[in-house]
Amino acid sequence: MPIDPVCWMHVDRESKIRTEYSGRKYYFCSSKCKAEFEKNPSKYLGVKSAMKMPK
Ligand SMILES: [Zn+2]
Repeated sequence: MPIDPVCWMHVDRESKIRTEYSGRKYYFCSSKCKAEFEKNPSKYLGVKSAMKMPK
């Protein structure tokens, strides 16, 4: 199940609220989260990769 990169909610794959960025599709729980992501995509993608990095 896709995860909303802004609020980390699980989103239905059938959701119409989605965007494509760097060749990947991102799904959102609401148009508010989508707008937030599009304002600053790297902020949300950066958080994700930072969490994967072991310290
Ligand atoms: Zn959301």
